[in-house]
Amino acid sequence: MAANPTAPQNPVGNEQETLWYTLTKDSVIDKLSVDPGQGLSNDEAAKRLQQYGPNEIIDKGAKNPLLILWEQLTDPLVLVLLGAALVSAVLGQVKELIAIMSIVVINAVLGVVQEYRAEQAMQALKSMAAPLVRVRRNGKVREIESNKLVPGDIILVETGNVIPADGRLVESANLKTQEASLTGESEAVEKYDTALEDDDLGIGDRVNMVYRGTNATYGRGTVAITATGMKTELGKIATLIQEVDSQLTPLQKRMGEVGRVMFYASVSVAILALIIGSVETLFVGDALFGDEGLFNEILLNAVAIAVAVVPEGLPAVVTVSLALGTQRMLRRNALIRKLPATETLGSVTVICSDKTGTLTENRMTVKVVDVVGESYDLSPVMQKTLPKGQHLSLSDQLEGVMLVAGTMANDSIVERVDRNNQDYVVQGDPTEGAIALAAARYGLIKHEMENVFVRVGEVPFSSERKMMTTVHDINGEIPADDALQRELDRVFDNINHVAFTKGAPDRIVEICNRVWDHGEIKEMTPQFVERIENDNAKLANEGLRVLGIAFKPLDALPANDEWSLAEKESVFIGLVGIIDPPRPEVKEAVATCKTAGIRVVMITGDHPITAKAIARDLGIVGDNAKTLIGKDLQQMSDEDLRKVVKDVSVYARVSPEHKLRIVRALKDVGEIVAMTGDGVNDAPALKQADIGVAMSITGTDVSKEAADMVILDDNFATIVAASEEGRTIYDNVRRFIKYLLASNTGELIVLLVTQGIPAIPLPLSTLQILWMNLITDGVPALALGVEQSEKNTMNRDPYPPNASVFRGGLGRHILIVGLVLGVTALGMGLTAFNGGWQAANSACYTGSVWSLNLGNVDCADGETGVLAWNTMVFITLTLSQMGHAYALRSHRESVFTLNPLTNRFLLYALLITVAVQISTVYLPFFNNLFGTNPLTIGQLLLCLVLSTFVFIAVELEKLLMRRGTLSDEIA
Ligand code: ATP
Repeated sequence: MAANPTAPQNPVGNEQETLWYTLTKDSVIDKLSVDPGQGLSNDEAAKRLQQYGPNEIIDKGAKNPLLILWEQLTDPLVLVLLGAALVSAVLGQVKELIAIMSIVVINAVLGVVQEYRAEQAMQALKSMAAPLVRVRRNGKVREIESNKLVPGDIILVETGNVIPADGRLVESANLKTQEASLTGESEAVEKYDTALEDDDLGIGDRVNMVYRGTNATYGRGTVAITATGMKTELGKIATLIQEVDSQLTPLQKRMGEVGRVMFYASVSVAILALIIGSVETLFVGDALFGDEGLFNEILLNAVAIAVAVVPEGLPAVVTVSLALGTQRMLRRNALIRKLPATETLGSVTVICSDKTGTLTENRMTVKVVDVVGESYDLSPVMQKTLPKGQHLSLSDQLEGVMLVAGTMANDSIVERVDRNNQDYVVQGDPTEGAIALAAARYGLIKHEMENVFVRVGEVPFSSERKMMTTVHDINGEIPADDALQRELDRVFDNINHVAFTKGAPDRIVEICNRVWDHGEIKEMTPQFVERIENDNAKLANEGLRVLGIAFKPLDALPANDEWSLAEKESVFIGLVGIIDPPRPEVKEAVATCKTAGIRVVMITGDHPITAKAIARDLGIVGDNAKTLIGKDLQQMSDEDLRKVVKDVSVYARVSPEHKLRIVRALKDVGEIVAMTGDGVNDAPALKQADIGVAMSITGTDVSKEAADMVILDDNFATIVAASEEGRTIYDNVRRFIKYLLASNTGELIVLLVTQGIPAIPLPLSTLQILWMNLITDGVPALALGVEQSEKNTMNRDPYPPNASVFRGGLGRHILIVGLVLGVTALGMGLTAFNGGWQAANSACYTGSVWSLNLGNVDCADGETGVLAWNTMVFITLTLSQMGHAYALRSHRESVFTLNPLTNRFLLYALLITVAVQISTVYLPFFNNLFGTNPLTIGQLLLCLVLSTFVFIAVELEKLLMRRGTLSDEIA
């Protein structure tokens, strides 16, 4: 059938009512107006896309914005602000009321927007990892994004795929799907391509249909798509299952706790201020304030003090820095799927990595073919490309039999291209591609040979079995050289069927009772077994991936499609050794892990000798390292495994279920584990690990769905880079917590002390405090959140995940800097107050603005002029914080050793903040708003000089840390 030139108006009819599972294959494809061999034409697919819309589930389960708003407003710190607003309202303080309410509103709006954007960003990240689908269009198989699928498309499904839309099977090769997401049934269901008679079947019983969102766990199949997007069964129930996952990170949760502590702290100090104020009133009485407004004044002070404790900018800064961190990780090829991973990465102590493709390049090339004692080096053959029409001659025909068998038990696709210095390209599994390419160089082209060896059955490769078998009808003669032809005749003449098997040599030896020895079939003796094992060990020791190859002539096909019977008692042919070079950047990444206190563990299905050779080469283990193999692990109790898991860094010949036990044991002994995985069966281990890492290129869709992070280049070095970013994020969060809370402490000291001195009013108003906490502290804090990794980021141990954020000298820093800040501002303020220093625009001020005279000018008529002291406190507190921010660029190193331009944001933030702050002193608008007064240049300079004290104190603290006098250990 041509690609539907006569497609009906609505090719799918009323798809909701069509019982596809009751129809025969022919009527299905007829109804869908598609030729399964050709697929849809591009034009028709485009038309149908217009008609049916993209294959997408529309998210209706998003969080209700009112709920988000409610959560924002009931945050403890917002409650403090609301309380402060209420008091201001009662006391008629309109400016304060407006300011506080603006902050509450801005915070709430920002909170809602941020939550919404975070949700969008995560969706976008997830869709970057969304699966591609292999679809047949215009007669060719190609990969398209799954949202472009339309009803009538013919897709190829294989183990590991997440089914992208609903469809009817038109071919099934042992396909099994796991449909728990729809039916709750966790056992995989075997799928067939035949029609079902009963027209009243539930989803779980429609064994010739596959459904969107279910997983192919075994085999492969060809599917005609019957419904896409919201018309799929998943789409119909999507609104029911879309649950809200708030994805708070551990740090965000801990920040919530910090918020609660700050809430109690602010309420307590406000009460304390009330008590101090009341006691003062009792003793000093109205001498200070006069009768009127005395209580109001005390209340207002309490409000200012409560507000001073609340770090208004903190929640926004944490969210922004996590979001930016996720972006930075993406730039380094690590795509975060679950936000908590961003910071857990900084705590990883063990990275368990697959070997193939992650530590190695997954660029496989056959190097050696070893046939019963004869070894052939294929390197020269594999290095050159061949002009069209030419192929190489085999040095020995035995090699040819190996290559025929290896190419038939093989799912890769070989194509002649003749471009970019290539003769053939191979698609599919690299191990299989390597063998098919070697065969092609000798003129044994896979698809041509498949006309002779017609595949009728198979047992697919699985990591558990570590081998695959295909069963064929023999139909004619293989197009090959005469010599090879004769050799093949010797093997295949007079037989109608044959099974080919390739896999891990130990597994192949287990199923063979005979050997192909120079053209003769002989019994497999212990001597042969020993010879094969020795040859295998020799190749593995060179770091080669070794596969055994076997065949079995069959008189008849196995009954009931029991294909695995076909491989029993096979004839062993030989071994192929495949090179898969280690990735060049991995060696350095492994070395970095060593200095960073992260242990690298290799977990592979490959042979222990191959695994160890590569692990040694990469610096993961030394010569005498212990290797644990899957079989031994199987025998061990969990208790025994926990005992060895700290010492073993190479696990070989393991199956996915062993990975799960390894992760559990590592976690039991207190490790924070990142684990890579690519197969369907790796999903449980990925979920169990603290950070499940899936591979973007070679990973199955199922593994990606289970993972916390997807590595876009499949490269181990990227995991290490991501963990460095994780540490940097945590460093930055600590940086601005230090910064913001020290400032609050300084303000609190100033306020509480002045509240305790009867003769002095509070130097800072509620408005000024809000301004400082939000603007002059908030802007530099944001810039500190993007500081680059510190020099020692990967030269120290990982952050213990549950350690309090205040460990490692953070609490100490807050107290010291808070004290220096508070005492400096206060000391200067009190001196100015007592000295009666007057502001530059004081009515009775007589000196020039340029005068260094700090004031203390008597007013002629005995009035007190406008005093400068509280403006000086305000400005000193804010300017000190600029130096503090700059010094905090490193927790440990002197800032003089850092390049000032590497955090330009901070430079801009500081310049802008200083400019804005100076304008609060000199612009009349701000004077009115904040009650500030212009300072003389002398006063301003004095504030500037005193503002350096905090910077000096922080640099001194760091010096003492570097000398070891002060500790900065977090563990
Ligand atoms: P890793 O877990 O590091 O990715 P791996 O890829 O070597 O390891 P598996 O894919 O489970 O692990 O392979 C295990 C063994 O199975 C290999 O050593 C090889 O002998 C054999 N093998 C691998 N791929 C195939 C295949 N396509 N067909 C047959 N045998 C294979």
